[in-house]
Amino acid sequence: MHAVPIRFRFPGIIALVITALFASTSTPAQEQKVEYIPTTLSDTLTMLKGQGGNIAISAGEDGVYIIDDQLQPLTDQLLVAISEISDQPIRFVINTHFHHDHVGGNETIGKGGAVIIAHDNIHQRMSSDYYSNFFDNTWPAWPQDALPVITFNDQITLHFNGEIAKVYHVPHGHTDGDSIVHFPASDVIHMGDIYFNGLYPYIDLDGGGNIQGMIAGAELGVSIAGEDTQIIPGHGPLSNKANLAEYRDFLVTARNNVQKLIDQGKNLEQAVAARPTAQWDATLGAVWITPEQLVIFIYNSLQGIAEFTPLNSDDD
Ligand SMILES: [Zn+2]
Repeated sequence: MHAVPIRFRFPGIIALVITALFASTSTPAQEQKVEYIPTTLSDTLTMLKGQGGNIAISAGEDGVYIIDDQLQPLTDQLLVAISEISDQPIRFVINTHFHHDHVGGNETIGKGGAVIIAHDNIHQRMSSDYYSNFFDNTWPAWPQDALPVITFNDQITLHFNGEIAKVYHVPHGHTDGDSIVHFPASDVIHMGDIYFNGLYPYIDLDGGGNIQGMIAGAELGVSIAGEDTQIIPGHGPLSNKANLAEYRDFLVTARNNVQKLIDQGKNLEQAVAARPTAQWDATLGAVWITPEQLVIFIYNSLQGIAEFTPLNSDDD
């Protein structure tokens, strides 16, 4: 188990991975051999990178539970990777939000006997078809077996493997059903997709996301972290409090820069052209989400427009 670099080093690789995130219904994924990389974080916790959102695995005297379960077609491979960490059955799954690269294993793992726990809005979103203007794609409702069995509206605490996991809902952040998970004894936080480490974040306006909630969620993470806390982002390498604080500051500055343009009366096209995120465009903006897309996320968030509206659409 090698040390994971805190700083983002391999933008190309991560871009490839993220491009595949939402390709959950296309066929080649089953045949893909995924390389799973476990990182031991404490006596009970392991971070597992594979294809899709980063996973946390708690394994100990009571059994196993996991935070998120990546892409549906890769579930059999994921289960093999988890069994190499512990051969105990998976008792619980906590989903950080409803996206397909975080809940894909729910159906198989739920049928296998695990109890799925998630925010109320995840149950609601997974129960119906979901159209994304950003991806211009519709994902059909999930089968009953994939849905959370226990839902909560604010926070919930799991007592298992000799420690607690406190799950905090973050309203209207990356989606409208995000949670971050804090393990005080292990000194670990899983941020879900509130935190994209090393790349511009995706803010799912169509799924109830908003820049203000992203900032509030990042702030919550910073406020409960200590200097040595290991922080699992939804995507990107393992992180820490200093880097999460830097990310929070980036979100705040980007939000403020776009707000200034709105105050000057700029429309969306003019705001994008003003390049309010220029200082990060060559680094964070060169991986997946583009500078233009990020400005649209922020601009529409601040204007109360709850959908992604691409520029150069042919409706004018
Ligand atoms: Zn997501």
